[in-house]
Amino acid sequence: MQVSEKAPIRNNWTEAEARELFQMPFMDLMFEAQQIHRQYHKPNQVQVSTLCSIKTGACPEDCKYCPQSSRYNTDLDTERLMKVKAVLKEAAEAKAKGATRFCMGAAWKSPRAKDMPYVLEMIQGVKEMGMEACMTLGTLEQDQAKDLADAGLDYYNHNLDTSPEFYGSIITTRTYQERLDTLSNVREAGMKVCCGGIMGMGEDERDRIGLLMTLANMAEHPESVPMNMLVKVEGTPLENVDDLEPFDFIRSIAVARIMMPASSVRLSAGRTNMNEQMQALCFMAGANSIFYGEKLLTTENPEADSDRQLFRKLSINSEQHEDVSDEAHEQAILHNIQAEKDAGFFTDATAS
Ligand code: SF4
Repeated sequence: MQVSEKAPIRNNWTEAEARELFQMPFMDLMFEAQQIHRQYHKPNQVQVSTLCSIKTGACPEDCKYCPQSSRYNTDLDTERLMKVKAVLKEAAEAKAKGATRFCMGAAWKSPRAKDMPYVLEMIQGVKEMGMEACMTLGTLEQDQAKDLADAGLDYYNHNLDTSPEFYGSIITTRTYQERLDTLSNVREAGMKVCCGGIMGMGEDERDRIGLLMTLANMAEHPESVPMNMLVKVEGTPLENVDDLEPFDFIRSIAVARIMMPASSVRLSAGRTNMNEQMQALCFMAGANSIFYGEKLLTTENPEADSDRQLFRKLSINSEQHEDVSDEAHEQAILHNIQAEKDAGFFTDATAS
């Protein structure tokens, strides 16, 4: 491939090709991932998102990694669906500090009919503030996806978590196919897809290959691909699973970058367990998006101040919107992030 040529966006990856990538010498893999990264993304820029938990815990699903499942005893304080006003207050605070996208998560199997009007109001309120809106609410039927899109929702997050083969060892209450159906309902409704997985749940390389192949062989790649490193939470069935070899996680990021060159690869849960050097290697491998704040889902996230310090050390510019082109606005965002000392800006967040 000539340096000036862009790597093609493909959706016909074979298992052998993906395995070959995983088994490349580490330095060669990093080099290739970084080259492809630079063809599609600004090399020293990381997109930053904040996440608000609009309903926490008491989830009927049995995802073995998740402290929000009602099946596990994890000392989590559960919270009902937040009032629309309270959510919009948080959104307004986030906007005042420079955020251009507001992500909202609820620990549900799927949104109930009685909750939908409130959820739609939240989306409309966030959109009226001039921000992008993102939600994660569980399984969506076609009509629900359409209602969310009609209200103005830009992104919907729904993770596949792992390979189709390993999935049944982690979740039994929702099938892989149901997840794929939700993703296709989201696409059909015209929203952008945020979909990724979790490494370190006891899966092996074949499962990491299987997950990335499923994502990369979708007709359209997810615009955002969250890559989580398991945070082992006491009380969940995975609390004692073996630690993931950090290089295997970094390799997964690099392979995701190569297989989905144009997507945002989001370094999500697990950053607390990564030192600065490991996070830098993840950025080198092609991660270009993080969640910013004290808590992510219901697990610890590096404190905002340490994120700022790391960005400074690496000369990384944080950007809270992929499409920010106005230099002055970008500088204002940076200024606000630099000036941010108030941990109240950040909220607990949840997954689905
Ligand atoms: S990951 Fe989502 S669906 Fe699964 S138990 Fe946690 S909140 Fe529920």
